[in-house]
Formats: sequence, structure tokens, C-alpha cells
Amino acid sequence: MSFRLRVFLLTLVVAVVATGATAWFSLRFMAQQIDRSQQEATRHVADIADTVRAYGRRHGTWAGVSERVRQLSADNKQRIRLVNLYGQVTVDSDNLAKRAARPVVGAPTLINPRPALALDPRQMGLIAAKADGLVLDELARYRRATVYARCLTDIGQDPPPVTPDAYGIPLPSAEPEGGECATQARDAQEYARADDSTAVTNCRSAADHGACLVQAFGNQVETFAPEPLQLFLGAVDDDAVTLLGRPTAGAIGAVLVLSVIGTALVARQLARPLRSLTTASRRLADGHLDTRVTTTGRDEVGELSRSFNRMAEALEGAETAQRRLLAGVAHELRTPMSNVLGYLEALQDGVVPPSRELFSSLHEEVLLQRRILDDLQDLTLAEAGHLAYRRTGFDLAELVEVSRVAHLAVAEHGGVRLTAEAAGPLPVHGDQDRLRQVLGNLVTNALRYTDPGGAVVLRAFPLPGLAVVEVRDTGCGIAPADLPFVFQRFWRADPARDRETGGSGLGLTIARQIVLDHDGTIEVTSTPGEGSVFRVTFPLRAG
Ligand code: ADP
Repeated sequence: MSFRLRVFLLTLVVAVVATGATAWFSLRFMAQQIDRSQQEATRHVADIADTVRAYGRRHGTWAGVSERVRQLSADNKQRIRLVNLYGQVTVDSDNLAKRAARPVVGAPTLINPRPALALDPRQMGLIAAKADGLVLDELARYRRATVYARCLTDIGQDPPPVTPDAYGIPLPSAEPEGGECATQARDAQEYARADDSTAVTNCRSAADHGACLVQAFGNQVETFAPEPLQLFLGAVDDDAVTLLGRPTAGAIGAVLVLSVIGTALVARQLARPLRSLTTASRRLADGHLDTRVTTTGRDEVGELSRSFNRMAEALEGAETAQRRLLAGVAHELRTPMSNVLGYLEALQDGVVPPSRELFSSLHEEVLLQRRILDDLQDLTLAEAGHLAYRRTGFDLAELVEVSRVAHLAVAEHGGVRLTAEAAGPLPVHGDQDRLRQVLGNLVTNALRYTDPGGAVVLRAFPLPGLAVVEVRDTGCGIAPADLPFVFQRFWRADPARDRETGGSGLGLTIARQIVLDHDGTIEVTSTPGEGSVFRVTFPLRAG
């Protein structure tokens, strides 16, 4: 699986789990919270309605209820609004708190402070007259108590508590006695007596005498008892966090912590291979070129690890090659230097007499050292891609002929027949001097390793898209086991002999680099004892 896909999937998993968990916890706690607040709201409604109704019954008026409402609102953290049946506001906790009344939500609860008479004359075995008298008595007592309580409330006194009597009518334990309010109550009773009596007597003709009496009682009560009110609750004064609930906040916190831990684990998991790569590259930079990382998977990180290992191998290879080169250079230079040194010491000590031959031999040794150094410089430049090429278009067949002529003297001196067969023109594009250097190296080698009486043939001919040059000799040849090493630096089939002939062991290495830089190829086939063929190809220049 690709690294990018893995990062994407893992992050997605964390995100989905975190979101899911948050949603689940939120929904769960929200549901609980709503449930609880609904229960509380129901309880609140019942409690508040009871308290308000009790006030109405005890005080016989709604005057002064606002103080009780303010208290209830503060205790229950509820907004309370009382409205009469005509929609007129009796009291609103928002107004009491000196703020604009917020809209009310939900259905109102009816608060009716007026008592209903619990009387069934038939069931009680009462005769009509007795039942009438009982209702009139109840009416009178309730009227007196109500007017008395209202009067006390008006003058700022607390009315006595009331309890329902045997017929459900809330009455104080004792009749009002003395004082302005008691007089008022008695007067009200006197004043209404005739009216009450008529209302009760009218029931004599009613089909259901009991029901009519209850109705008449209710009708008379309406004239003096406090009116029914509608109670609205709503706009809970809780702030958002309380509404959300501590458990929900806790759950969100827990989910947050879990997602942070989850993401950290994912990040750790993803970063592990990168960390080992960082450690490995530090070790590599400190010179531990044998450092490798374990490669797992086919994703980008696996590919990066493989690239790292390849780079480390290349670095190690380059380091080894450099060491080998330095060892080779030291080895190559030590022999001619020792020779020169030996002769110079012998001359100094007078052990050998100075002679023209000796100086010319010393000269040869120094020349060889110079050649090795020149070749090394060329090779280093070529391998680093810094060898300057002045490329032009020219005829390779002509260059072959030029090379042949240049080496004729050496060939004649060595008793070797040097011929050329050039089927030109072979237009190529390259650095003429460097390619002459390549040909020169091949021809020199061919002449060097061919005994007198042998032959060296230069051939230049075209192949489809290619210009080919062959240098064929009838020399000693190269053993098949040695062929793979021919182009390696400082490699010689017979070091002692070759050094005598003045070879640096770098000629073919440089030749191959120059050919490669011209997009060409160089290869050798050889049969020991019969001779060798070096074949070089270059791309033919179109047009
Ligand atoms: P050198 O300058 O020593 O000749 P080269 O790189 O040109 O170095 O050649 C490397 C070795 O390859 C030579 O020392 C020789 O052993 C072998 N070699 C090259 N050309 C020929 C050839 N034509 N016949 C036989 N051996 C050859």
C-alpha cells in the first residue's frame, strides 16, 4: 500500500473514530440531559403551579404574588410568566428582573385558586333544605375568609394559613375576629347573603339538585375569589455549559485526548522508518559506509529505503575504488621512482660511472612517471565529466588513415606491417584530437604486442547508423580470463614486461571513457597466440 494512501487511511480512521465517538457521546449525554431537564421541567411546573395556587387560596387575591414569583424564579432558575384568561399579564419574572420579556415556549398550565364544592347531598343522605343550608354556610365562611385574607394582604399583613375542610373548601382554622378586616369580611358576607340565598334556592327546581348546588357555589365564588391564571415556564436561565452538561464536556475532553493519543500513535508508526533512515544517514555521514536500512514494503518509504541502500552501496563502491586507485598510483609510481633513486644513489656513491646510456635510461623512467601522471589527470577529468571536448564534424575514415601514417615509422622499426582499409567517408561528430588519441592507443598497443613479421590492420567501415573502426593484430593475444580486465585502470597482462615497454596501464581505461563520452562502444575479442581485435563504434552523423 502506498505511503500516501496509508497516511490518508490512518488519519481517516482516527478522524472517523474521533468524530463517531464525539457524536455518540454527545447524543447520549444530550438525550440524558434532555430527559432530565424534561423531568425537571415537569416537576418545576407542578411545584410552581402548586405554590402559586396556594398563594391565591391563602391570600384571596393575586396582589403581592410578584414577590413569591421572583423567589420561585430564582430558586428554580426558571422564567415564570402568569397570564389571566384574557391574556393580560399578571406577573412575569423577566419584567421583575428588569429585562425584556422573552417569548414563552410550550403549553401553559392552568392555575385555578377557586375551590370546587365536594358535595353530593344524596350520597350524604341530606334532605334538600339541609343541603341548601350547608352550601350557604360554606359559601358564607369561604367569602368571609377570602375577603378577610385579601384585606390583610392589602394592609401588608400575612393572612392565616388555610386547609381544605370536609367539603374541599380552603378555610383558616379560626374565624376572623376583631379588627378592620374582620368587619370588612362580615360586611361583605351580609351584603351578599340575599344573592347567595337566591342562587341556592333556585336549585330546588333543578333535576339534579346536588349538581346544581355545586354549580351555584362555583358561580358565586367566581364573583369574589381570585381569577384563574395560566402559568408559562421557559427560557431556562442555565448557561450553555450547564445545559450541555458536565458529562458531555467530559466526554468531548476524553474523545479529544483519545484522538490526540491515536494521532500520535499513527504519527509514530509512520515516522518509525523515517527515523531509522535519519539515523542511518547520520551514520553514513560519520563515515560508516557499510550502513544499510531494512527495506520492507513496496510503498514510498520502502522505495526510499532501497534508494538509500543503493546510494550507500555506490558511496562504499566509490570509496573502495578511490582507495584502490590511490594504492594503484602509489604502486605504479614506486617502481620507476625506486629505479631512479637507486641509480642516483649509485652515481652519488660513485658505484656506477655516469654514462649516456644510464642518463637516457633515467630519462625514460622519469618520462614514464610523467606519462602515468598525465594519463591519471586525463582519466580523473574524463571520469568526472570535466574533460573538455571540442566537437566538430569530421570523416573517421580520414582519421584512420592519419593514424596509420603517424605509426608507420614505429611499425617499420618493429618489423610489423601496418595497413589500413578505410571505406569512407564516415561522417561523425566529436573531438578529433581525443578520437585520434583513442586510435593511437589502440595502434600503439597492437604494434607493441605484435612480434616482428606480424601485421596490424586498421579497418573503417559503416554499419547501419554506425561508423566502425577495427584495429586487428596478429600479436600475442589476450587470455580469455583476462579479457574482462583489459579496460580496468592499471591492469596489465604482464606488469613487468609492459612497464618495460612504457605502458601506464591506463591507456585503454581513458580510451573507453572518451568513446563512452562520444556515445560510442569499445570491445575486444582475442585469441591467445593469434591476435586481438579492438572494435570501436560511433554514431554516424546524419546528413
Ligand atoms: P598500457 O599502456 O600498459 O598498454 P593499456 O590500458 O593500453 O595499458 O593496456 C592494458 C593491458 O592490456 C596491456 O598492458 C596489455 O597487457 C593488454 N593489451 C592491450 N592491447 C593489447 C593487444 N593489442 N594485444 C595484447 N594485449 C593487449
